[in-house]
Amino acid sequence: SKGAALVTAVAQRLASRKRQVDETLSSFRLSQEQLKLVKARMRAGLEAGLKTKGPSAIKMLPSFVYHTPDGTEHGKYLALDLGGTNFRAMLVNFKKGLQQNARLYHKIYTIPLEIMQGTGEELFDHLAQCVSDFLDYMGMKNARLPAGFTFSFPCEQTAIDTGTLVSWTKGFKATDCEGHDVVSMLREAIKRRNEFDLDIAAVVNDTVGTMMSCAYEDPQCEIGMIAGTGTNVCYMEEVKNIEKAVQKKGKTEEDKGTPDEEQDKADAEMLKMCINTEWGGLGDDGSLDDIITPYDTEVDQNSVNPGKQRFEKLTSGMYLGEVVRQVLLDLTRGGLLFRGHVTETLKTPGIFQTKYLSQIESDRLALLQIRSILQQLGLNSNCDDSIIVKEVCGAVSRRAAQLCGAGMAAVVDKIRENRGLDHLNITVGVDGALYKLHPRFSGVLKETVKIMAPQCNVTFLPSEEGSGKGAALITAVARKKQEM
Ligand code: BGC
Ligand code: MG
Repeated sequence: SKGAALVTAVAQRLASRKRQVDETLSSFRLSQEQLKLVKARMRAGLEAGLKTKGPSAIKMLPSFVYHTPDGTEHGKYLALDLGGTNFRAMLVNFKKGLQQNARLYHKIYTIPLEIMQGTGEELFDHLAQCVSDFLDYMGMKNARLPAGFTFSFPCEQTAIDTGTLVSWTKGFKATDCEGHDVVSMLREAIKRRNEFDLDIAAVVNDTVGTMMSCAYEDPQCEIGMIAGTGTNVCYMEEVKNIEKAVQKKGKTEEDKGTPDEEQDKADAEMLKMCINTEWGGLGDDGSLDDIITPYDTEVDQNSVNPGKQRFEKLTSGMYLGEVVRQVLLDLTRGGLLFRGHVTETLKTPGIFQTKYLSQIESDRLALLQIRSILQQLGLNSNCDDSIIVKEVCGAVSRRAAQLCGAGMAAVVDKIRENRGLDHLNITVGVDGALYKLHPRFSGVLKETVKIMAPQCNVTFLPSEEGSGKGAALITAVARKKQEM
């Protein structure tokens, strides 16, 4: 009959549409073999970065943090945290002997886009103004507090309190900052205000701060991870493996004068150092070209730093929504989505923020609710469209979590081999909206680490107020050293 023929035709059209969507998404599906390759490349990148010779895709930056906290840290510290999207100022008070009982006051300041992308002087003047506001708020303008500065970008450090910005990442591109010491820039901005004084004792990457704050609660924590706007990992490495640090250390005239016993003690305390890997740079030398899709290439080309942070662009919140959007554009152009209508909305960069991806992928959400989210974004969808959008989000976020899992497997296996162990128990302190708020990311990440590093038992510990509290702990240690 005519009716039956029509039903068959519709069913066939749907099946063929599903096949075509599936084919598009297959480029995001990674096999075990591919993930093993990513792990191996990450491992090779970590090793290359520890060597002195030449630049490497993974920077492996020494942090000059030699231990995780021991619980004797005490006193009041200011923590300043410039992250991916905002600036936080906080006051942390560690009470002696009262572990896990740090009091904390904080305030969050947004960084306007024109300041993120203006001049360096304007950016640091803005930060100094936020600090001024916070000190007023706390009534502590005259205290000259020791402060730790969490700066979530790659910095080349030669001491705990100096850090030269290598290159901006995430949406930042303020001028005259790259190649400059960010601590000096902050000190100068404070001096220009001529209104309060601050003793900036440490500059800290957010991964390092996160590791420190989690290690305060769990001594097995020797790795820090951020899966948020950007992505990165730090871990405790043996100093003897850090060729660049070992070379810089070499004995000076002064050292020769110190008694052997003291020197031995100092050396023993400096057997390990936390390394900020900057693993987001994996692939900047082309090593990920075989898994990078045309959608990823498009996202990279449209970014403020084309060719840079290729791994980060496959795995972090700032970019996942853009990858999704590129796929949706392609499917729509192929007539497989939104009735083939490419709208201005769909052509708008940045519409799919991580929070929408998290919502769309939540299983508690009915398809009708997905349609209403798309509607809020200005996209008219039918029921089939909403199913396809959810599948696209799922494929992109799953790949991100698997890639981070493969990378983490490389890190934990390296630590295990460093220690000559058959089996390693270790904790990762972790922060970031992708890890904390996305419904699937953390699950897939853990599952992948388990499969890719079977000789390691890895526990993930989400941090509370992590990077700032960690910077305060590092500041406490830096200032304690000075007193001795
Ligand atoms: C930066 C890292 C930072 C990470 C997470 C990356 O873009 O290069 O320094 O740790 O984002 O915030
Ligand atoms: Mg942060």
